Amino acid sequence: SVTSPRPVPRAGVLAIDAYVPGKSTAAGVKKVYKLSSNETPLGPSPKAVAAAQHAAAELELYPDGAATRLREAIAAKFGLDPARIVCSAGSDEILSLLAHAYIGPGDEGLFCEHGFLVYRIATLAAGGTPVVARETNLTASVDALLAAVTPRTKIVFLANPNNPTGTYLPFEEVKRLHAALPPHVLLVIDAAYAEYVRRNDYSSGIELVATSENVVMTRTFSKIYGLAGARLGWAYMPAHVADAVNRIRGPFNVSGPAQAAGIAALADEAHVAAAVAHNERWLPWLQAEIATLGLAVTPSVGNFLLIHFPETPGRTARDADTFLTRRGLILRGVAAYGLPHCLRLTVGTEEANRLVVQALADFLGGRD
Ligand code: PMP
Repeated sequence: SVTSPRPVPRAGVLAIDAYVPGKSTAAGVKKVYKLSSNETPLGPSPKAVAAAQHAAAELELYPDGAATRLREAIAAKFGLDPARIVCSAGSDEILSLLAHAYIGPGDEGLFCEHGFLVYRIATLAAGGTPVVARETNLTASVDALLAAVTPRTKIVFLANPNNPTGTYLPFEEVKRLHAALPPHVLLVIDAAYAEYVRRNDYSSGIELVATSENVVMTRTFSKIYGLAGARLGWAYMPAHVADAVNRIRGPFNVSGPAQAAGIAALADEAHVAAAVAHNERWLPWLQAEIATLGLAVTPSVGNFLLIHFPETPGRTARDADTFLTRRGLILRGVAAYGLPHCLRLTVGTEEANRLVVQALADFLGGRD
């Protein structure tokens, strides 16, 4: 048969593997515990929900395209300059905007072996070439990153803490990386899980952004603030980077309800404190209980854990995934991150956490 001509995406687009989100359902299960996307088990602040509902009464109006009040609220909370903040539909969007603004054909986006998948997608979507640096013990290696820098490197993406490993680079190392980078390279520190880190050593990058011309820190309302469904992120950057990003950003990229929810969420400090306390209670508990079962767990500073499974038939990560899913416990398979023998577990409610440990014990013990 004759195929009629049709529009063809530009070179490279169809070679990109689309991002596949974690599962959220399990067929035939009464109650599902979604522990696959690092969402908070505490939900959003009720004040944020009320603010979003209130704003939703004006859905016929365009939102403030500059997200002025939200940027001012973020600036006031963190002691920043609002002119250097850009808000986005999730931090995914800002990562993609940065790639589109700085990476073109022939340029390279550099990131770690088990870095967040969006770095690769954003680099390729911008027409650039992804370059991967080896890690040491599932942790970013500054030496490997620096060794991979070329004259074509435009952005180094560093998630700190990293997803899906949960590992962390201390500020001394982040500073060493920044100091050795050529000044034309943008260092993007993705601090999506910054609020969970219980040491105040500035590794999220705030201090570096304030004092240099080539560092960006990205943050999200999706994790500790429980607003993943609202799609809200922000980034702190030098004024000249904000200028570039604002030129290519969608004019109304953050919805009115999302802006209102963000402002209210920032003000509800008790809710954030409760989420931190919950994580501090249950992350170490899960880590210890799962290790006691004989599974290796990568020590994490986020709100999730990387669990390593044996390659023995019947005991693999895939087998565990199937077993857990039958009980409504949805973890994240991370084969797409190059970790086919691992599952990532988000810290859940007490009930969910206890069920996961029991289910893993039953799985390893061969009990249905
Ligand atoms: N960075 C990292 C390291 C993440 O894990 C995530 C969420 N999976 C994001 C960025 C993006 O989150 P969002 O777009 O919801 O802000």
